[in-house]
Amino acid sequence: MKILYHACCGVCSLYPIKLMREEEIDFALYYANPNIHPYQEWKERKKTFVTVAESNRVPYFIDKEYPLERFLKEQLTHENRCAYCYRSRLTLAAKKAVEEGYDAFSTTLLISPYQNRELIVATGGEIAKEHGLEFYDRDFREGFQYAQDTSVEQGLYRQKYCGCIFSERDRYQKRKKKQDE
Ligand code: SF4
Repeated sequence: MKILYHACCGVCSLYPIKLMREEEIDFALYYANPNIHPYQEWKERKKTFVTVAESNRVPYFIDKEYPLERFLKEQLTHENRCAYCYRSRLTLAAKKAVEEGYDAFSTTLLISPYQNRELIVATGGEIAKEHGLEFYDRDFREGFQYAQDTSVEQGLYRQKYCGCIFSERDRYQKRKKKQDE
């Protein structure tokens, strides 16, 4: 089975890379994240992603489009902004998987204990069906600490918030609230 991994960032790719290598699974990574705001943050994460992919000699693709207006418009009209965010990125990954001849796709988001695994798996399964693919829903959360430790050892950039401007606000509002208490 050939798997294309949607990669939310370089750090979250570290553990899936380790496992795929150990298990000799044919895979590649795909950075496709119109949800990351602002643009400089998107660039910084992309740079780290490229460093990780190249230093591990993993084939990779990048979606260079940055459709900020379209993403925000859709996100704001959606009842659940994370649901829209997952769907948009997993759809990009599925389309790329079909285009490049992969049998399955997945996402490095599945390493994060902060993401909604159930929703990602359900959304991935639906999108897989629509594209005649398989969604590889392996639980990578056991590798979260490994990714954090390795990124510190290697001096990799680690983001401070999930990605969108709303998550940036929530992160810093929470921190400010704590300081004010
Ligand atoms: S919080 Fe994270 S998953 Fe949710 S919409 Fe923002 S970037 Fe996407």
